[in-house]
Amino acid sequence: MRILLSNDDGILAPGLAALYAAVADMGEVSVVAPDSPQSAAGHAITLHHPLSVRPVRVDAPVEFSGVSVDGRPADCVRLAVRKLLPQPPDLVLSGINAGSNVGVNVFYSGTVAAAAEAAMCGIPAVAFSAKLGDEVDFARVAGYCRKVLERIIADGPAKGDLTNVNIPDLSAGPPRGVRVVPQSTAGLDDEYHRHLDEAGRESYRLAADYGFLPSHGISDVVCLAERFITVTPLKVDMTDHSRLDRMASSDWPDAFQ
Ligand code: MN
Repeated sequence: MRILLSNDDGILAPGLAALYAAVADMGEVSVVAPDSPQSAAGHAITLHHPLSVRPVRVDAPVEFSGVSVDGRPADCVRLAVRKLLPQPPDLVLSGINAGSNVGVNVFYSGTVAAAAEAAMCGIPAVAFSAKLGDEVDFARVAGYCRKVLERIIADGPAKGDLTNVNIPDLSAGPPRGVRVVPQSTAGLDDEYHRHLDEAGRESYRLAADYGFLPSHGISDVVCLAERFITVTPLKVDMTDHSRLDRMASSDWPDAFQ
């Protein structure tokens, strides 16, 4: 099996090395990742400068060779699949992100975007993220990612299947189990702090800590907070199929003069 690894924390991120170590024996593993941290890059791609690629050798905690790209996570995957790899991969893994990617954060996440880009290329992909605790033991997190990945592979992922996996904070003990749950749509409860400099120029900084607005029902946000590993199948198709037929049968103008 040919596996491509990418991430949004950059090619030198400990989460990527831990994921590499955890899956190295599963096949032929390639790494193409951003040359700098790209968290919250979402599904951005680079239009206005050529993408520089550079071979990178990482020595610790595991040795691997990869290619860095001075672009976004989605750039890395589309460039890897279309130009850098001799053959398209059978599977793309993204992460392990330092920080969870549940609920509406899925939209901001570069980690999920790298996996979604693979899904758009018709390749099964899994995004892995670890909820931040006092300290993240990525080797330990990667062990759980491997177990979840084995289950996903055993289920025979189809062309373009996209799966979002989050590992809870392990500082309070091992995960309580695995929950396959929908993505929460609860909004973010975060804050912009206003600043005025000496010249009276106004700026706003988004606070690093945030929560989610209250929500009801079982979701990735709720189950991750309760220390379950969450597994959420996602779709690139953002169409609201429940509204589609109703809107299509509405009285739209036939033509515009
Ligand atoms: Mn990140």
